[in-house]
Amino acid sequence: MADRRDPEPEPVTRPPVIASVAKLSPLQQAYSRYVTHANGCEHCRDVDRGRCGESERLWRAYRTHEEHAARGIAER
Ligand SMILES: [Zn+2]
Repeated sequence: MADRRDPEPEPVTRPPVIASVAKLSPLQQAYSRYVTHANGCEHCRDVDRGRCGESERLWRAYRTHEEHAARGIAER
């Protein structure tokens, strides 16, 4: 009677967030960067204080990507 099992597959230790970010389009990556900053920035999390300079920069970068995507301009 064989009671030995096949060895377990190697556990995947790679964080799934990295794998998913790698698959994102430039537009999604820009938005992800903005959201990641906004979630980790005390200034940005305080709605009364509005966005900080870094957040403004990331938001504008995202909007630029979005405009390009809307116009069908291929990003290279
Ligand atoms: Zn901020």
